[in-house]
Formats: sequence, structure tokens, C-alpha cells
Amino acid sequence: MTDQPSIAPADDGEPSKVLLVDDDAVNLMLTAAALRERGFVIKEATGGEQALATLGRWTPDVIVLDALMPGMDGFQTCARLRTLPGFEHMPVLMLTGLDDEASITRAYQVGATDFFVKSNQWSLLAGRLRYLLRSSRMRLELERSRARLGRAQDLARMGSFDWRRGAEGGSGTLLMSTEALRVFGRGPGERLGLHALLRLVPGEDRRNLIRLLRGVLAHSSVLATDVPVVLAGGRQRIVHVEAEPEYNEYGQSIGYTGIVQDVTDRRAAEDHIRRLANFDPLTGLPNRHQLIWRTERALQHARRMGHMAALLLIDLDRFKNINDTLGHTAGDDLLVEVARRLRGCVRHSDQVMEGAVEAVGPAWHRKLEAVGRLGGDEFVALLPEVIDERDAERVAQRVLDAMREPIFVGGGEWVVTASIGIAIYPRDGLTVADLMRNADVAMYAVKDQGKNAAAMFSPLLMGRGRERLELESALHKALERDELVLHFQPKVDVRLARVVGVEALMRWQRGGTLVPPADFIPLAEETGLIVPMSEWLLREAARQSRAWEVSLGQTLTIAVNMPIRIFERSDLVEQIQAAVGAYGIAPSSLLLEITENNLMKNLQDVMPSLHRLNEIGVEVSVDDFGTGYSSLAYLGTLPISEVKIDKAFVRDLGITPKGSAVISAIIALARSLGLRVIAEGVESLRQLDELHRLGCALMQGYQFSRPLPADQLEAWLRTSVLPRRVPLLGPATDPDAGEAPRLAAGRQG
Ligand code: C2E
Ligand code: CA
Ligand code: CA
Repeated sequence: MTDQPSIAPADDGEPSKVLLVDDDAVNLMLTAAALRERGFVIKEATGGEQALATLGRWTPDVIVLDALMPGMDGFQTCARLRTLPGFEHMPVLMLTGLDDEASITRAYQVGATDFFVKSNQWSLLAGRLRYLLRSSRMRLELERSRARLGRAQDLARMGSFDWRRGAEGGSGTLLMSTEALRVFGRGPGERLGLHALLRLVPGEDRRNLIRLLRGVLAHSSVLATDVPVVLAGGRQRIVHVEAEPEYNEYGQSIGYTGIVQDVTDRRAAEDHIRRLANFDPLTGLPNRHQLIWRTERALQHARRMGHMAALLLIDLDRFKNINDTLGHTAGDDLLVEVARRLRGCVRHSDQVMEGAVEAVGPAWHRKLEAVGRLGGDEFVALLPEVIDERDAERVAQRVLDAMREPIFVGGGEWVVTASIGIAIYPRDGLTVADLMRNADVAMYAVKDQGKNAAAMFSPLLMGRGRERLELESALHKALERDELVLHFQPKVDVRLARVVGVEALMRWQRGGTLVPPADFIPLAEETGLIVPMSEWLLREAARQSRAWEVSLGQTLTIAVNMPIRIFERSDLVEQIQAAVGAYGIAPSSLLLEITENNLMKNLQDVMPSLHRLNEIGVEVSVDDFGTGYSSLAYLGTLPISEVKIDKAFVRDLGITPKGSAVISAIIALARSLGLRVIAEGVESLRQLDELHRLGCALMQGYQFSRPLPADQLEAWLRTSVLPRRVPLLGPATDPDAGEAPRLAAGRQG
């Protein structure tokens, strides 16, 4: 292996090009030959002018110039060369005579890169050229990368700085790159000292920064911080500063070098992302993630300090109805308004808290207090510290009160109520999950008991939760196993002393016990089981009606209670027709009872069915009348036949004057609309008399009979009513006789 490669390639693999300038023809030829032999590409020139002319057409990588030439010599040529664009940094090797110190000095003065003593040691010359080429390439690289760095720093809004410690007490010297100056809104060459820089930082932040800088300097530690600055024209930016200490050869810290970067946009983007991850985009409230995070922190604190915390689960009542009726846009508007009101009920902080809670002050945990959205129409209020449960109940009451005002969305006013379950740490759970679950249990208890209220969790409710599950699956089986039975309660016309019909009331024969409807109908309605149960009810009522037609020789209209869900089924009328058809009875043998509340709330859905029922001759009675919020004006337009005064008013009869006032109003109204009126829950002769006096002759209640199984009712009819042995409307003036003449009462219930 020779010590010279056969070619002299540049890094990109191309052989290096040399312009060789010498007036000595023999020397020129020999040198050219020797260098070609060593892999260089050579162009020859015999003088300065010729060399410059060649450069107009061809660009070498290096120029070798004989210093001494007639006419334009090497020095002049080099000096000219340096004025040409593109040749400022071209490596130039000046060939000088041995020990010609003056030439060497001159060569550097005119801008030559290096010199070489003329000789025939070609290998040395080639070596020197290669060295020149390499360093030229490195310089070029450096220049390029510096340009790139500058561009990159500009793009990244970043620049570098250098700070030298000054005399004791002085602020030292701060040197900033052009890019760094730009970060602070300054032009290239402008000066920005440390004091001027600090003045860009506003008030409190400046004091903090100075404190930080003092600490960093005292320990010669690394500096890394974000600094808010206010630039000319009031532009607010956030500048990230990062710097490392520099030391002299004795290990003494002499200053810092570092970078500054405008991170305002990145910060904004980060904040945005953090908001998205932690806040509900619709309402702007903390989302589930953020809530759980806050609750965990709050529980940690409560554990340490030994105090209580509370979690309120807030669920809107019947939101689905509104959403379905109004559409999602109005539903969203409504949620936004609800969120706004909820926010006003707690000391709410909208700050993104993750990783940002530092133990500042003794009550920092208070900042965790929030109301957030779990999703849908479910909200949570976190109270990080409560004195006792009444504290939490007060907030719950505030929420209920806040909902009272109607909300205007979708072109109408809506009253939205909420059911609230409360769980207290540590009593009702030690973890977020336990508290959430128990608040949920309490919330469902509220829903069960009529909504629009708040309830504390209690372990008893838990038991009920399990019971409910068991009940639900048992109820499923009850339908399949024919465990449902109907009892019948007569409806009596006291004036004619006649039974005008019966109401079918469902019971569940579960093992040895008879489960009352209040214990399973609400659950059946919730689960949807009420639909198949009602279909069974229709068939069973039709069957019984037919059976009585046969055994009694007369038709007893059977009233059946219909839940609202059955009206949502478009084939209700077909179901009825099928039932009456199957047993060959008239459709008018069945009468549907629908509660006033259900009817009025779902008027639009129910109306078409009501009209069709009317057409086929099935009458409709409005149950529990007076408890709903009937717009009385509507009542006249409805295809209904009967209103059934709620037993609450009957109970009040003779006790408060209001009771009879309401009843006479209902009677007057019904009469004017041509509707029948019946009173239910009649338990005493006093009530019977009073109702009769007010003009209501149709009644139902324990006074006449409890609901009875079909065979017992039939027996009751045969003994009590059909022979008319018992006067229904007697001279009921004996005050002691109030409870006495109960007809067949107490046998069942
Ligand atoms: P409702 O439709 O208002 O039925 C009248 C309730 O009052 C019945 O209770 C009945 O036993 C009771 N009652 C009758 N006379 C008196 C009285 O003099 N004093 C008092 N305090 N109460 C009296 P029950 O049978 O326990 O039914 C309760 C509720 O369950 C019913 O109220 C109805 O809403 C529902 N329900 C009963 N059976 C069915 C059914 O087959 N289907 C549907 N969907 N709901 C039913
Ligand atoms: Ca009823
Ligand atoms: Ca009723």
C-alpha cells in the first residue's frame, strides 16, 4: 500500500480540482504531472491574467500560485482573486522561495491560505493540498450549518446568549445572537442588557425571576424556566430560558451560555390540549378525568388532616324527554345553562389542576372544589372539606333551588329538576370509586321516590339496591310462570245503589305472599317489563269480563290501568281488539285508566291512540285527577269519558275546607265538559255523604269493598249488591257508624 491514494477525491467522491499557476513552463509541467499522478485534476496557467481568465469559466477547489511571476505576480493575483465573488474563501497555496520570510508574510497579507516552499517534493505538496482542501470543506460545512442553525433558530423563535460575570455587584455582560434579540423584539445589533431584559418581565414575575437567578448563580446550577415578558407594543410572550454555567481553567464559574426561545404558541397549544383532556367541551366544566383527579387529591388531604369531604351526584330528571322532544341542539343549550347554574353553586375553579396544585397555604385543597360533568346529564359536585353532612345538604339544596327557574331553550320554557345523591368521606367510602357508587345509589333512591330532591347515602339503600336486582329478575320469571293475578274493586253508583264496573288491580303471587303493585309496578315501568305485563293484563281482563258475562248474566266494565309506555306502542289498539276478539266481548267492556300526569306529559304521543280507542268504543278515564298539572282548557278537547278524583282529595274531605273546594271545582269542570266523575279512596260514610252532597255519585273505596280476587268479588256482588239488600245511600247520620257498614271490607287487601 502506498501512502498516497491513486486519486485525491473530495468527500463527494469527485477528484479535487487544482488551478496551477506558474510562469516557469518546466516547473509547471512537472508539478502538474506529479499532481495528476496523485489523483488531482489539473488546469495550468502561466500567469496571473491567464489564471483569472480561467476562473471565469472553471472553478477549482484549490489554487496554487507561484509568488514570483512577471507581470501580475502571485500576490497581486491573490489580492484580486479575493475581491471576486465566490472566491473570498477559496483556498490559495502560495509557492515561495526557501526562507523567504517577506514573501510568506505578504502572502498572508494578500489573503493566501497557506504557503509552500517550492521544491520537487511532490508528495509533500500533494499532502499539503489535501490538508487545505479538507479544512476548506470543514469551513464550508461549518458555514452551512451555522446558516442552517440561524434559520432553524429563527423558525423555532430561538436564539443563543452568552453572559459573563462582571465585577462584584455588577450585572455582567450579556451578549445575544441576532436570533435571540429577535425573540425579544429587537433588531440585529441592538443592545439588550440584563437590566433592560428584566424590565420586560412584569411585576411579581420579575421578583420571582430575580430570586431564581440569585439562587442559580449562588449554586452555579443549571437554569431552566419560562418567563413572561411584555414586549414593545404590549405584546405578551412567554420565553423559555435555558442556560448552563461556564468555567475557566481554574474551575471558577465565569458566566452562563444558553438559549432563549419564544414558547408562547407552544404553551397555548399545550394549554389547549390540556383543556381538551380535562374539560368537557360543551359546558366547559371539568370532565370525568379531571374530577377523579381532583377527588383523589381531596381525599388524600382529608385523610391527612382528618376532615370530611363530600361528593354530590347530580342527575337531571327526564332530560331524555327534553332531548328527544327538542332535539340535540336545544338539549345541548339546556345542558350549558344547567352547567352555568351549577357552577354558581360551588366555589368553582376552572383552572386545569393536573400537576399544578402546589401546597400553597393551609387551605389549598379548597381550590379543588368544583362541579364537573360526568357525561350525558350527569354532574358531580366535589366538596373537598365539609364540617358535617348538613354542609353537603346545603349545597344540594342550593343546586335544587338553582334549577327552579325555567330555562328558555328551543323556543320554550322548561323546568328541569335534578335528583341528587350524596356520599361523605370517610363515612360512605374511602375511595373515589366507592363514593361515586354510593352517591349513585342515593341518587337512584331519590329517583325512585319521585325525583327532584337530594338524599344521603345509607347502607340500607345498598340493601335495597341488591333487592331491586333480585326483584327485577324474579319479576321477569313471574310473567313466564303466571304469578301475576288480578284483584277487582267495584265502582259503585251510590244514587242507584248499583255497581257500574270494577277496576282491575294487579298483584304478584310470589311464594306465599301477595306483593302489592306499589312494590313492583315502578320497577316494571323502569325496566320496560310493564309492556308485556300490560298486554297480559288486557287479555286477562277480557277473559274475566267474558267469564262474568257468563256467570252473572251481565256485563261489568273492567277498568285497566295503562302505563304510558304502552301508548308508545303503535299496536295498542290492535292488542285491545285482539283481546276482546279472542273472548268475544264488546270493546266497551274494557275501560282504560291513564293517570293525569302521564296523559298531560305525553299528550302529543297519546292523542292519536286516544282517538282510535274512542272510535272503537273503548272509554278512557283520567286517573289520579287533580294531582297533575292539567291545563284545564285541554281537557275539553280530549277524547276522554271520565275523570277519577284522586284519593288525596277524598281523604281531605270534611277535614279541610280546601278538600271539598277542589272536589266541587273538579265536579263543576267535569260537568261542563260532559265528563263522568268518580271519586276513589272512599273509606267512610262521612266521605260518601260529602261526595254525594257535592254532586259526585260514582265512588270506589274500602267503604264498599277492598280489591278482591275474581271469585270473592263475584260472591260480594251476589250477596251485597245484586239483591240490593244493603242500602248504599242510607240515612248515614249515625256518627258512630262511620266505619261500620263497610261492605265486605277487610277480606282482602
Ligand atoms: P290506582 O290506579 O290509583 O289504584 C287505586 C289504588 O287505591 C289501589 O291500590 C287500591 O287498592 C287503592 N284503594 C282502593 N280503595 C281505597 C281506599 O278506600 N283507601 C285507600 N287508601 N286506598 C284505596 P293498589 O291496588 O295497591 O294499586 C296501587 C297502584 O298501582 C294503582 O293506583 C296503580 O297506579 C298501580 N296499579 C295497580 N294495578 C295495576 C296494573 O294492573 N297496571 C298498572 N300499570 N298499574 C297498576
Ligand atoms: Ca287506577
Ligand atoms: Ca287512582
